[in-house]
Amino acid sequence: MNVDDDQSTYSLATRAVHAGRADLGALGVHAAPLDLSTTYPLPDVDAGGLSYEQLAGGMDCRPGQSPVYARLWNPTVARFEEGLAELENACGAVAFSTGMAALTAVLLGLGMQATSEGDDQRPRVLGLRPLYGGSDHLLATGLAGTRAVFTDPSLPVPQALAAALTPDTRLVLLETPGNPTLDLVDVAAVVEVVRARSPRALVVVDNTFATPVLQNPLSLGADLVLHSATKFLGGHGDAMGGVVAVGADAQPWVARLRQVRALTGALLHPMGAYLLHRGLATLPLRVRQQSENAAAVAAGLSTHPGVEQVFYPGLPGADPSGVVGRQMSGTGSLLAFRVAGGFPAACQVAASLRLVTHAVSLGGVDTLLQHPAALTHRPVADHAKPDAGLLRLSVGLEDPADVLADLVQALDRVQALDRVAVLAHA
Ligand SMILES: *Cc1c(COP(=O)(O)O)cnc(C)c1O
Repeated sequence: MNVDDDQSTYSLATRAVHAGRADLGALGVHAAPLDLSTTYPLPDVDAGGLSYEQLAGGMDCRPGQSPVYARLWNPTVARFEEGLAELENACGAVAFSTGMAALTAVLLGLGMQATSEGDDQRPRVLGLRPLYGGSDHLLATGLAGTRAVFTDPSLPVPQALAAALTPDTRLVLLETPGNPTLDLVDVAAVVEVVRARSPRALVVVDNTFATPVLQNPLSLGADLVLHSATKFLGGHGDAMGGVVAVGADAQPWVARLRQVRALTGALLHPMGAYLLHRGLATLPLRVRQQSENAAAVAAGLSTHPGVEQVFYPGLPGADPSGVVGRQMSGTGSLLAFRVAGGFPAACQVAASLRLVTHAVSLGGVDTLLQHPAALTHRPVADHAKPDAGLLRLSVGLEDPADVLADLVQALDRVQALDRVAVLAHA
């Protein structure tokens, strides 16, 4: 792809392959170079000092300019950021060591902004529950200097928001599909309510589950999009990372987040950036196929007598606000199901798997199953914790018939053990 080609005219599949590679032709290489330098030669003291000042302040490193020091800039990381920004229709993106580091940087950036505006209040942030357990926990601890409140997950989203938003709310964090029950949230509707009630609030959407392949929150009015790149973007379970994509109206956040990163040092390692950038090329293909596989597994599980309920955006009744098709171009590859027999039965299913791996995380090429209440959502307050019989599944690229057969044998085993227990008592 030519340096000056306007990428936005190409379809997503094309952009996913070529984004962040515009400088390779001039470098005379085909694969993106992995630059592991921690420091860089300086042309002279004046030019070096000026570069330091510009980069530490969050400016872009220009071609030919010395990056000075790897905590300020790394070209391999910058290519991944450019690629992700391209896929999210963002004006820029800033990558971090993990998704949690990315969220922390956003919260610290809020404090930095407040300080620069002479506001000595801790910024009020609102978490729209349900959220990823780690995000919920980070907000609740106040560790990043913010005051957190949460919506009541038992209320419909518009009422829950109306009850919790105040004029001094500075940030609203939401996820859709939600974790772990895959609840869908209408992002444009949330943005409208937030703008009306809390005009100073940033709307931040964690798009880890949907990926830019299925949903572009910035195009729906959100200000920032957050990803745990550890999940789908990398897609192979071998690189941790996080990234924040910035919408055009929130453009100062690109420099602000780079500044936070330079000051706090939560860097994405270039090796990770290399792998995550490579992952972007196959992202559309993986997400589409994994979604198709998940739909087949969800349908199969729905008919099993050992399953009380399946949670999947593609199932009837799962999308009351009509988000699929309008906001989300597919139903994704995550699902959850509640087994009959509660916690002991869920433990038994997890222990009886042969093909599917019992492990946290998601979005990779292989299928993973985990128990949210015991693991990812362990730190969440008791009244907001997922059901003890709930299991979450991230469906991979295996043949869905093999995945379903493994789950069915595990569920059948639980039922068979139940019958043995009943007979033993008789
Ligand atoms: C995993 C995850 C995170 C945290 O990302 P890490 O890379 O593990 O730090 C945040 N949000 C969601 C939705 C996640 O699944």
